[in-house]
Amino acid sequence: MQGGKNNVIAIDGPAASGKSSVSSKISDKTGYLHVNSGLMYRAFTWSILRSGIDLNNSDSVVGHLHSINIECGQIDGNSTLTVDGLDPGIELKSSEVNANVSLISAIEEVRTLLVSKQRDYLNISNIVMEGRDIGSVVFPETPYKFYIDASAEVRAKRRMAEGGLDDLKKRDKIDASRKISPLIIPDDAFVIDTSKMNLEQVVLEVLNELKARGLVTV
Ligand code: C5P
Repeated sequence: MQGGKNNVIAIDGPAASGKSSVSSKISDKTGYLHVNSGLMYRAFTWSILRSGIDLNNSDSVVGHLHSINIECGQIDGNSTLTVDGLDPGIELKSSEVNANVSLISAIEEVRTLLVSKQRDYLNISNIVMEGRDIGSVVFPETPYKFYIDASAEVRAKRRMAEGGLDDLKKRDKIDASRKISPLIIPDDAFVIDTSKMNLEQVVLEVLNELKARGLVTV
């Protein structure tokens, strides 16, 4: 596996399925670095929106990709992300980013660059990485794969409670139907439907399955 002895826990699933909360708790329990790959796609989308580039012009979008510097790292056990030295912070979750991120994420060059940054994390730490293609494409060789799901109604409710506009159905449709690295359930992933579970129950299931799969630190 890339990164020598380091391990990856891959947590994939559709929008607002609860991946981030679960990943964060699993990071606390294991001491592994939590990396949210969705924030990388959001950061690039945020940068495109600020630049005023036509989102539908993929040549301009790719040109922009090569003109900016997206830095991913870690400070004190927390993953960090800057675009040309700026931390976009809460703006990554804006309605405008929500509305455009799936379109931008479907572009091959964008994925190539960001996947390589995602893989770099394994050289510095054990990681819990959440996303859409972590178990299928970014780290297909990891034995620790999870797919976190919930009904469309439950996911919509969870997102509404967080505020902001987010057309989950539209994002999921684009994410699952794109040509490159679509959202899929890897054959060897442990699937958890969290619709009727609370966070503690989901975390417990993940920890039990990690043990069953031989992860010795949990
Ligand atoms: O996880 P989150 O909902 O914040 O991700 C935002 C968007 O980033 C997704 O809807 C998807 O378009 C894209 N994404 C992706 N591959 C990943 C993570 C996120 O395409 N590994």
